[in-house]
Amino acid sequence: MPELPEVETIKRELAKTLKGKVISQVTILWPKTVSPTSVQNFTKMVTGKKILSLDRRAKMLLVHLSGELSLIIHLKMTGQLIFMPQTGKIITGGHPTADIQTPGRHTRLFFTFKDRSHLYFNDLRKFGWFKILDDKLKKYIDTEIGLEPLSKTFTIANLKKIFTKYPNRTIKQILLDQHLLAGIGNIYADESAFLSSVLPMRKTKTLTNKEIRDLHQNIINVLKFSIKKKGTSAKNYVRSNGEKGGFVPHLMVYGRKGEACKRCGLSIIKTKHAGRGTHYCPGCQK
Ligand SMILES: [Zn+2]
Repeated sequence: MPELPEVETIKRELAKTLKGKVISQVTILWPKTVSPTSVQNFTKMVTGKKILSLDRRAKMLLVHLSGELSLIIHLKMTGQLIFMPQTGKIITGGHPTADIQTPGRHTRLFFTFKDRSHLYFNDLRKFGWFKILDDKLKKYIDTEIGLEPLSKTFTIANLKKIFTKYPNRTIKQILLDQHLLAGIGNIYADESAFLSSVLPMRKTKTLTNKEIRDLHQNIINVLKFSIKKKGTSAKNYVRSNGEKGGFVPHLMVYGRKGEACKRCGLSIIKTKHAGRGTHYCPGCQK
């Protein structure tokens, strides 16, 4: 699943292209994609609207439309956005597929714009969704989704507050919990633990103030650096021009099982923790 840096990359690359486009037609091929809104209502609400801007919250993409309407998109495991212009460069983001068919077997919905370009949503496993951002969903996002690690609200004090509230949970459990912190997934949880020299399975009550400070700083650093490198190409992500993300050579532990630690030379270990494959260096992390 794309994490914060990957969704941010897709957002940045699609934002310029989509801004100002008028949606002249909505075609929904898999009604569940727009659930709980009905196909009829979704079509009625979105048709004729102009795309004003794109935004991101956690791992979700927000599309602000004219008429004070916003859509919220979650790519989940295999969602893919494909922008097809009449002429010029195709932009794709999300799940990598060798042959992009538009519309194809996996196309769940698409927008036809007034200039006859298209935005397709392909999703093999059908977990992804497009929702109308109504008051209920707005409230959910404001109250149920955790701190944005790249916003001003993500302070050392706030991170410490979370750790203090859940003393018996592990670092990784906390970092992956979207109710507490938004947008960090498996890759960046493992990487920020390594950079802070702490084991991801450490209980938060054992962390020193210095370790908390380091963790706070490294979460920010690794996310920012990955955005700069246009994300990581894990199994389920390519950046929006179809290329692989440039963060891969910079990974320290994630996906490096059995390889030598870039700091101490010991083999990177992969274990299962918090229900996920978890990577760490037995020499560098305590
Ligand atoms: Zn090491």
